[in-house]
Amino acid sequence: MVDCKTIQKMIIPFDEGRLSIKEEEMFVNHIENCADCKEEFEIHYIISYGLSDDEDAISVEPEYKKLLNHYDFKGLVDLKIKNSKIKIKKIRDMNRISLMCLISANISLILAAVIFVIIRYY
Ligand SMILES: [Zn+2]
Repeated sequence: MVDCKTIQKMIIPFDEGRLSIKEEEMFVNHIENCADCKEEFEIHYIISYGLSDDEDAISVEPEYKKLLNHYDFKGLVDLKIKNSKIKIKKIRDMNRISLMCLISANISLILAAVIFVIIRYY
């Protein structure tokens, strides 16, 4: 298990989308199971969005904006985590598919080479 200090240092990079997939997965898994870090994450949003009066200055996606307008920071954190998990799963699936493509491409290449040798020398 990663310690909370490491995770809490990753809050801002996570929010700015600067974590690698591996780091992001670690971060999300920890936040989901650690009330302290989840609270820290909410506080991050309270500080960066809640205290700002100038709403136009904040550029957020519409799905997040609705929650921000209601000061629902817990909901915002939950949504961010949910979206991140969907993203991680998509990338995982993509990697699996491209690995499978690579393997089948290799097999066809070997097969083609074998057939070539058979045709050429027999
Ligand atoms: Zn923690």
